[in-house]
Amino acid sequence: MNRNGAQDVDDRMQHWEMTVDRFAVHAARWHGAREVVSRDADGRVTRSNYASLERRARQCSAALLAGGIRPGDRVATLAMNTLRHVEAWYGIMGIGAVCHTVNPRLFDEQLSYILNHAADRWLLADPQFAPIVERLRPKCPALERVVYLSDAAGRPPGADADFEALIGGQSADVRWGEFSEHSAAGLCYTSGTTGNPKGVQYSHRSQVLHTLMVGTYEAFGLAARDTAMLIVPMFHANAWGLPFAVMAAGAKLVLPGPKLDPPSLYELLEQEQVTFCGGVPTVWQLLLDYLRGKRLRLSSLKRVLIGGSACPEAVMRAFRDEHGVEVLHGWGMTEMSPIGTASGRHTAAVAALDPEAQLGYSLKQGRVPFGVDMKITDDAGRRLPHDGHQSGYLKVAGPAILERYFGDGERSVLDAEGYFDTGDIGTIDAEGYLQITDRAKDLIKSGGEWISSVEVENIAAGHPKALMAAVIAVPHPKWRERPLLIVKLKPGETATREEFLAFLEGKIAKWWMPDDVVFVSEMPLGATGKLDKKRLRAQFPEFPPH
Ligand code: ADP
Repeated sequence: MNRNGAQDVDDRMQHWEMTVDRFAVHAARWHGAREVVSRDADGRVTRSNYASLERRARQCSAALLAGGIRPGDRVATLAMNTLRHVEAWYGIMGIGAVCHTVNPRLFDEQLSYILNHAADRWLLADPQFAPIVERLRPKCPALERVVYLSDAAGRPPGADADFEALIGGQSADVRWGEFSEHSAAGLCYTSGTTGNPKGVQYSHRSQVLHTLMVGTYEAFGLAARDTAMLIVPMFHANAWGLPFAVMAAGAKLVLPGPKLDPPSLYELLEQEQVTFCGGVPTVWQLLLDYLRGKRLRLSSLKRVLIGGSACPEAVMRAFRDEHGVEVLHGWGMTEMSPIGTASGRHTAAVAALDPEAQLGYSLKQGRVPFGVDMKITDDAGRRLPHDGHQSGYLKVAGPAILERYFGDGERSVLDAEGYFDTGDIGTIDAEGYLQITDRAKDLIKSGGEWISSVEVENIAAGHPKALMAAVIAVPHPKWRERPLLIVKLKPGETATREEFLAFLEGKIAKWWMPDDVVFVSEMPLGATGKLDKKRLRAQFPEFPPH
């Protein structure tokens, strides 16, 4: 009897529990010599391969079992993208324990809240996060053990355990998998822009299905000959599922560790001849600016996956025109494992258009792969047509999409048709392309109509002097809310408000025109590297006086 009460019938095919350890086994068996390159906190680059990764992950499993970790127990990681972090992932999940990836950029109160909420028994942490760990330990009574993801030499002073000591001497002869694919594999908390962070618990089955979905040509389209670098951190919605997808493909894996500044990223991209890479727009904006300033070229990169927030047009053009790199624009969220839609690989009708028109579609968030269904609705929950104009609340369904938050009992958050409300607002066109116009909480409602902050930002960020742009709603006596444009200029640039307003003129509807423009030296970035509009709203509760 399955979860829907249906009886299993006459299935003559082999039965595999779809558990994620199979990715490591597959990579080790069929791509064992394929390289895994990792940069540690101290800047050193380690070279390994999938055969070794799998063996060491099994040794990690043996150590966890010896330490009393059992299926269903939560083991947290507080770490950047490194080889030891990937080994720990598979080591934890392979035995049915749950890998809780924790975002080290959160505030202490959020960190202790989620560690306690998850009742994490062990914590595996990068040595550079020792100060955070020391502050957290007294506040997290359930935490039994902290292991640093380093060798003895890299261990912080006073720490009692490191990863090499933990797995050293352990047998690699550990059984993986062979439990229900519906078991929990991973746990990730949303960054909690409103209220406490909420836990999203992934099952082995949802992760495997997600990997098969994103592996398609329509989505990430990874191949064994690719070299994939993971800039998006593993604590940000499982690095968008890339650690699974890259190993399923047997591609070479490059892990940049904590060094995400443009020179370090460029060095690794070139040195390892990376062909595929994923990250949020702010990372790319900074990298492209650096390349331009230094007149550097990307010699090997073929595809970049950009998501987490809308890809600005200037970024897409720069990749295409200055570097010959194809941009895959993805939309999704932690609750969706995370992929929802992808753009870049077009339908026949769109592929027949001229390049400029195609770019317009690439800038949209894209189409659903098999395994995701979506709808847009009005305030009353009625479905809206897919005409590319009417925008509504975006709701999604699929086997890798959340039904209930972790620790929330049986309370489903789905609507009557089984769809999850994403909190995003968007349109869907006749070709099936989703365009996100806003997050419900960032919406600007002016005189009863919605203004798309995302679209105005996108255009403003294309101003030659702009590095980043944000548009927020500011209260207005007549229209209720009006847009304020906030700009961070490129280093050394100066500009006037009139220059920016003139730049927007004719590119957006008149009533969308920001009422004012302010220039800031720093844009507040949230824990996942995206613009933090909550802080901007607090910074600009009203239009600045002139
Ligand atoms: P948080 O941003 O709160 O850390 P997530 O990483 O899960 O949480 O972010 C999900 C949200 O990010 C989506 O609901 C959407 O608003 C936004 N987002 C993600 N990708 C895109 C994109 N390509 N374009 C526009 N918005 C995006």
